[in-house]
Amino acid sequence: MVQVRPEADFSNEAAFLDIATLSDEESMIKSAAHSVAKDVIRPASIALDRMNAKDRILPESPYFYAISKLRSLGYHRMFLPGHYLDDGDQVSPLAKAIFLEELGWGSLGIATSFGVDVLTFSLVAMFGSDELKAELLDPWINDSEGRFHGCWGATEPIHGSDGIMALRDLGSTNFGKWQVTARADGSDWIISGQKSAWVSSAPIASHCVLHAQNSQSDGPAHGMLFIVDLSSPGVSIGPPIDMLGVRDDPQGEIFFDEVRVPGRCLLVADSPFYPIFVDQLLCTTSVNIANIATGVARACLEEALSYATKRVQGGVAISEHKNIQLTLYSMFEKVETSRSYARQMLRYTDRFTEVEASNSQSNLGFAIGPLAFSSPRHCRSSQIYAKRVAFEVANDALQVIGAMGLSDDSLIQKLFRDARSLWIEDGTLEVLALDAARNLIGNYDKYEYDPQEVAQKW
Ligand SMILES: Cc1cc2nc3c(=O)[nH]c(=O)nc-3n(C[C@H](O)[C@H](O)[C@H](O)COP(=O)(O)OP(=O)(O)OC[C@H]3O[C@@H](n4cnc5c(N)ncnc54)[C@H](O)[C@@H]3O)c2cc1C
Repeated sequence: MVQVRPEADFSNEAAFLDIATLSDEESMIKSAAHSVAKDVIRPASIALDRMNAKDRILPESPYFYAISKLRSLGYHRMFLPGHYLDDGDQVSPLAKAIFLEELGWGSLGIATSFGVDVLTFSLVAMFGSDELKAELLDPWINDSEGRFHGCWGATEPIHGSDGIMALRDLGSTNFGKWQVTARADGSDWIISGQKSAWVSSAPIASHCVLHAQNSQSDGPAHGMLFIVDLSSPGVSIGPPIDMLGVRDDPQGEIFFDEVRVPGRCLLVADSPFYPIFVDQLLCTTSVNIANIATGVARACLEEALSYATKRVQGGVAISEHKNIQLTLYSMFEKVETSRSYARQMLRYTDRFTEVEASNSQSNLGFAIGPLAFSSPRHCRSSQIYAKRVAFEVANDALQVIGAMGLSDDSLIQKLFRDARSLWIEDGTLEVLALDAARNLIGNYDKYEYDPQEVAQKW
């Protein structure tokens, strides 16, 4: 007897009921972003997932089509510090959260690529000199093709979780030094060393925001942040690698062999501000990932919901069975709470971007003004929660869909692999939780971060 296979692509187009009160602009962004995610990002992401790593970065790859589409629509500008934007480009934190969720719904990899790109050039906006902004930021803002693309060089072959765990161990030298070092040579810096093979978008990036060790100091707390042009002599990029998930964004290692970098490319110096800056940077990336992960979770819920009403077993659609109903409810509950927390934390953290930007002139020295900071434990917690939910919901969706979900051409199989990768990308769940716990213990009653305390320990 011939078995009839249900449609492999059972994505549903229905919008979810959003309980937030959205302004006209937020509604417009939501609808436009969903269209791009559905019509451009998700199809590109499915095609990329099935390609080999080398083909993914060929000029005709759907990756570049997706990236240039996002660029041409100007979404990258929404994430620059407010003072850098024309009134027309400024959007609310809720609009940013909505956009990131839609992007995550379309593709975790392309959302990651977008995230590291925006991060790179936002840091130039926040900490770069006027000369550097004219050289790099303005062309990036107006680049509608994706010729300028950033990546974030933090982890190294011998330093993965260390980058996060060292933040609250400022005096400790247990972690050793960053492998990538920078030594002063007149007004320039000479950079050598290697970043890990997991640097998102590295194989296609034009620039990297790079964490490096001051060669004169010990320990990751004495890091520095540079923006490096990846076409500089001495830079080489490893081949794109194949991973279980997030195959729709190329990852690769970056090697630096005595790379000369002009002094103006130093964004954050080896100073008491550096560990605070990294801590706060992880707040921003945490809340962004929380919203993206919510999109991944929602995509899984929608796949399961749609399939459950079509698949007939026991003479009825499986959505009629109580076990499937309870599973779908539990998935829904998780997606809703993840969205709520992620949106709240993005709104909370967004206001600190301006504060950090206003500190941009003081970070090269020792002066740290009376700054307000975001709360690391809350931001990490929203990231951890959303990542945990994304994988749990993906796992449940796979169970609802059954063997069809395990097949190569099913979207849920890809979403499941992506959701699993989230437990490692941008910090493992355990290490993020340990970091949040250390920020919590002995600090429960403190809303703000105490820069003087950091300066004393530094
Ligand atoms: C899809 C993807 C994209 C990525 N993109 C980037 C990027 O753009 N830029 C970049 O720099 N990096 C990137 N990474 C790297 C990522 O940040 C690291 O993989 C992550 O921080 C974990 O480091 P690791 O893989 O070296 O694991 P390890 O640090 O070796 O950890 C291995 C295990 O040991 C545990 N562990 C480690 N240290 C401790 C500790 N002190 N206490 C308790 N448990 C510990 C961990 O929880 C984990 O279970 C990416 C990774 C992935 C998967």
